[in-house]
Amino acid sequence: MTSIPADLPKTIRHWIGGEQVDSADGRTFANADPASNLGYCDVAAGGAADVASAVTAARAAFEIGPWPRLSPRERGRVLHRIADAVEAREDRLATWESFDTGLPITQARGQARRAAENFRYFADLVNALHEDAFRTAAQIGYVVRKPIGVAGLITPWNTPFMLESWKLAPAIAAGCTVVLKPAEFTPLSASLWPEIAEEAGLPAGVLNIVHGIGEDAGAALVEHPDVPLISFTGETTTGQTIMRAAATGLKGLSMELGGKSPCIVFADADLDAAVDGALFGVFSLNGERCTAGSRVIVEASIYEEFVARYAARAARIRVGPPQDPDTEIGALVHPEHYARVLGYVASGIAEGARLVAGGARPDDLPDGNYLAATVFADVTPAMRIWREEIFGPVVAIAPFADETEAIRLANDTRYGLAGYVWTSNLKRGHRVAQAIDAGMVWLNSHNVRDLRTPFGGVKASGLGQEGGAHSIDFYTDSQIVSVALGDTHVPRFGAATDEED
Ligand code: NAD
Repeated sequence: MTSIPADLPKTIRHWIGGEQVDSADGRTFANADPASNLGYCDVAAGGAADVASAVTAARAAFEIGPWPRLSPRERGRVLHRIADAVEAREDRLATWESFDTGLPITQARGQARRAAENFRYFADLVNALHEDAFRTAAQIGYVVRKPIGVAGLITPWNTPFMLESWKLAPAIAAGCTVVLKPAEFTPLSASLWPEIAEEAGLPAGVLNIVHGIGEDAGAALVEHPDVPLISFTGETTTGQTIMRAAATGLKGLSMELGGKSPCIVFADADLDAAVDGALFGVFSLNGERCTAGSRVIVEASIYEEFVARYAARAARIRVGPPQDPDTEIGALVHPEHYARVLGYVASGIAEGARLVAGGARPDDLPDGNYLAATVFADVTPAMRIWREEIFGPVVAIAPFADETEAIRLANDTRYGLAGYVWTSNLKRGHRVAQAIDAGMVWLNSHNVRDLRTPFGGVKASGLGQEGGAHSIDFYTDSQIVSVALGDTHVPRFGAATDEED
């Protein structure tokens, strides 16, 4: 049974230059909730004309509006008010997000808080940033950091509001104006940005939102000549398409892409903590998390014990309606995605992996995109469930003989977003953590992030980093102004004849 939140919008429109507007051609698409797959609202389906209007509004706000010219402290005040407005809507945001994405309500609540924190963090960061100066006897060169212009932000459907905030906060803190294209599977929480921005006093045109399908609205944003920056989070293949399209305009790109992260458990690990961490690492957020530790690699001497304990716990994970506070795994975001995840389960079975938990829809949930926490053991690197990102509650476990093999298996992937290591041997822990080809590794720790640290992947997991000053670097250009400190001696080209005369 899905409980439908009160006050849901019947239609979601674009937000351009401070106005709610329909698509220029009037097109819409239907949006459904993943627990029932019944449509509950229509969303404006943007195309090139809508993107062009949004970019015009964002350009005007950048070129003649006050925003880029405000001091960092003045912009920071607005960002703090946005955080206040997000926090004031915590219940509604969590309820809507859970309803639209299928995330368990308790986990959606955490995402709303984190979204507010993103604005507070970047508000404070830009105020504390300094710019460099370089001095010689003859010259001083000082650096000014200038917002680049209109940034295109393209975001995915997993934790949508939080990921929108993660790009929006640094972009506007830096003084850019933006056009946001939210994911088409999950537009609901983005429909709260207009009232949040207005309440906070963000000038019209600084934030513009164009909803729509990626290949239409998203592609038009990437191709627009007045958008010099694209910050993208999503699948690796989409990232490749965007990079090709952005090449003509030589655009600045930030690419946060997919993952297939290893979680290595050594025999000397605190096994209780490792089991907890390895379960949470893949089954939280319905397994729809880019940093999921979806390949668990376990030392042979404890392998069978680990698999038995892990499978027993996974079998007890509560799968249920997203709005039930006891639910640990909710409904997967969309029937298309659900079918894809089920396809991976079938391929694991067909390729000979040992299914030790889950593998099917729970009996008591006949409708909606539900899948029991699914655990495959004895997975080999040739299998698809080892190689490809599943992005659902499915984990692959394999044994290793020694440290060298553990590292080889961990790095046997095209991806390089995250890694997890569990051991009580200090030297080995650091050694293995640093040997993993990934942007972020957690040692005896589950996935908790400090907003000041770099976030991003290597290999097919991304290009560039977000987080802390990395985000501000992306949205700004550094300009050096070199100034003479005394009389300037310039070589006197063309002056030879004067001297000879
Ligand atoms: P997706 O690539 O299908 O879509 C992401 C966004 O891109 C959507 O807004 C979509 O409409 C848009 N899009 C699609 N085609 C486009 C095109 N041709 N041009 C421009 N825009 C286009 O990804 P998804 O299924 O929404 O999200 C899941 C993926 O995101 C997973 O691979 C996951 O690992 C990844 N992800 C990565 C991170 C990270 O920080 N590395 C974080 C979250 C999710």
